[in-house]
Amino acid sequence: MDRFATRREKAVKATAKAGLDALLVTNVANVTYLTGFTGDDSYLLLAGRDHIIISDPRYTTQLSEECPGIELSIRVPGTSILDDTQRVVLAAKAKKLGVEADTITLESFEKLKEKLAQQTLVATSGIVEDLRLIKDAEEIAETRTAVWLAEKAFAKIRAGLVAGQTERQVAHAIENTIREFGGKGCSFDPIVASGHRAALPHARASERLIGSDPFVLIDWGATAKHYKSDLTRVLFTAKIPPKLERIYRVVLQAQVAAIKAIRPGVLCKDVDAVARKIITDAGFGKQFGHGLGHGLGIDIHEAPRLNSSSEVELKPGMIVTVEPGIYLPGFGGVRIEDDILVTKSGHEVLTSVPKEFDEQYVEISAP
Ligand code: ZN
Ligand code: ZN
Repeated sequence: MDRFATRREKAVKATAKAGLDALLVTNVANVTYLTGFTGDDSYLLLAGRDHIIISDPRYTTQLSEECPGIELSIRVPGTSILDDTQRVVLAAKAKKLGVEADTITLESFEKLKEKLAQQTLVATSGIVEDLRLIKDAEEIAETRTAVWLAEKAFAKIRAGLVAGQTERQVAHAIENTIREFGGKGCSFDPIVASGHRAALPHARASERLIGSDPFVLIDWGATAKHYKSDLTRVLFTAKIPPKLERIYRVVLQAQVAAIKAIRPGVLCKDVDAVARKIITDAGFGKQFGHGLGHGLGIDIHEAPRLNSSSEVELKPGMIVTVEPGIYLPGFGGVRIEDDILVTKSGHEVLTSVPKEFDEQYVEISAP
């Protein structure tokens, strides 16, 4: 059995455990996880031994390449995905059907209910996502590749920073390098934010020139094939103000301590608390306005969340980011982010870009 078939078996079992005899998978990332198919606009019906991808003619070739052997229902022109879903569900004789409520629109759900009036439709959440929490060997291996790609790109742009380069040009260079080394591309639009813009946790790369401020925050990652990496570093391009050094050292201390706390059996909220206490004790609690981190996989943000309310228990095979930050509006900010694999005995830091304070100084060459 290939790894996708193994995952589908697990999903079928989880569906039965939820009291359902079939699951309509509408979340694209879940379809990818269960089949290897990376296209859009397609559903997967899991009904016991029947595993059927519901798609359209644009994807026939891609489907045969990416998931050979799986049963397909390719609709004919003039019919909708819901018409086809109705047909496939009826043919599979599914009576109680779970539908992924996090992704299907309310309108589609209501229409499907009308089309399947004899069936019971149940809005479900998290059945496949719960399986995705624990990464298997292939997923971990591919995440390592995504980390390698991101680190290659960072090393290259770090060595080639030029005064007069814009933030946006740096972001493009990251994307190009990831592709040069065989990756699919960035796992999200990189954040390249210098000076006071580093105080915006979700700043986009702008036309601002590198070197016009003494520091620049870069938050970037790569997608290998399906799986993603996500890192943040702050580079110093000139002598930085003492206030930035102060918050850098606090964030680093909080990040290192939180990573140390990661091991099986620990609750996500308790890892968040380790970093939050250090930042709060240093007087910056209010300036750390987001959760500590998030799961990483086919989606750039997935379960589990590392925040102050998450009761999820860490287990071997989970991959999470640890990314505390301190943001001072109008002045700047620091965030340091690494990707961590939970192992049987504790954890492994997958990322290895230098982060000690003295290692952040970088020479920028003249234009
Ligand atoms: Zn990030
Ligand atoms: Zn992140």
